[in-house]
Amino acid sequence: MAPEPPERSQYKRLQEKHGPWRRALWAMLIYLVAGLIWISVSDHMAATWFSDPEQLLRIQTWKGILFVLVTAAVLFVVILRQLNQDRARLLLQEDQRRALRRRERQLTVLMDNLPGMAYRCLPDDDWTMLFVSAGCADLTGYQPEELLHNRVVSYAALIDPEDAGQVARDVETAVRLGRAFSVEYAITRKDGRKIWVWERGCGVRDDEGTVVLEGIMLDISDRKQLENELEAMATRDSLTGVLNRRECSRVLNEELERARRYARPLALLWIDFDHFKEINDSWGHAAGDSVLCDISHLLEDSVRSVDTLGRFGGEEFVIILPEMGVGEAEETAERLRQRVARQPVLLESGHSIRLTISVGVAVFPDHGESLDSLCAAADKAMYRAKKQGRNCIAMAQPLEAVHNGLR
Ligand code: GH3
Ligand code: MG
Ligand code: MG
Repeated sequence: MAPEPPERSQYKRLQEKHGPWRRALWAMLIYLVAGLIWISVSDHMAATWFSDPEQLLRIQTWKGILFVLVTAAVLFVVILRQLNQDRARLLLQEDQRRALRRRERQLTVLMDNLPGMAYRCLPDDDWTMLFVSAGCADLTGYQPEELLHNRVVSYAALIDPEDAGQVARDVETAVRLGRAFSVEYAITRKDGRKIWVWERGCGVRDDEGTVVLEGIMLDISDRKQLENELEAMATRDSLTGVLNRRECSRVLNEELERARRYARPLALLWIDFDHFKEINDSWGHAAGDSVLCDISHLLEDSVRSVDTLGRFGGEEFVIILPEMGVGEAEETAERLRQRVARQPVLLESGHSIRLTISVGVAVFPDHGESLDSLCAAADKAMYRAKKQGRNCIAMAQPLEAVHNGLR
């Protein structure tokens, strides 16, 4: 068994009821024995050494005076020592009380001014809060007393259900390994607003030996929003909001890998707007931009949720269609072409224009097996569609035909 901490064993000793009694009884016993020995020994010695009764009486008186003087001196020393100890203890206690009050004050100021919330809670299903700092109101919208002991709502009920499982697992692992934990998750505030919090804490044992969690939480919504914006900037095209070329290539690579692993087909549509330069020239660059946005959204709305639309540059778009073979890909490309041709685009000036697209279709593994060969096949097919008069679709050449030099 692990040895008890020193302060605990001292506390136990202080709690022993019979301690002071026993010590007082011992002191009285020693005094009694010493006094009795002194009386009987000194009386006997005086009677032996002095035979004259008058002299003996004087000696008895001096003996009594000496006994009283000695016991008074002993009493003086003992009481002085005790009083000094008491005073030192009282001064120490007062110093400790003052230091405690100072630390409590510092802690309260610190807690109340934390840019977030400090807490102590039980690691149960409700994350039952035993203490929360004043920052609770700012962070969650609930007053501290509403959260404490799950009076109005439990803290667990605020955590986004999507994150709750992962948070519980991370905290449980850290507590089991005796480590601190850091977790990020979304919570719903009292006003219904969703915010992101970062929490750092650790498991500690309270005086009763129960494990509780102590830590702080900070609102990191601004940082999360910035992260999301940066991610969007890195992966999305700023004009149309669809995936940019780099992200689209990454998705295509990933889908190709999956198609290869599960021996499934994958179709790629290469789309170029017909005579787009004329739109810019006739209606202005800004009008061209809005046409790009409108058509890209029309394309996005016309495909399945598993399909991916990306802008490869200029007015060239690609669509990745997982698990789609040659026949279905051809039909999809034709359906998109017709839909764009039918849909008039309304310009800001109030004019409505029509636009057509040329589409090249390539399918893995029929027209290409790698990202580069599939893209090249789809691009070439799109140029064939242009040559065939635009506003049409063209299928890529089967691989054998390419290998045989037939184009
Ligand atoms: P076609 O493809 O039918 O051969 O003719 P096109 O006029 O579309 O020719 P091409 O594809 O070569 O030219 C694309 C034009 O798209 C050139 C450029 O002015 C315009 N363009 C490219 N990017 C943007 C853009 O972001 N905004 C606008 N408004 N125009 C763009
Ligand atoms: Mg074009
Ligand atoms: Mg082009």
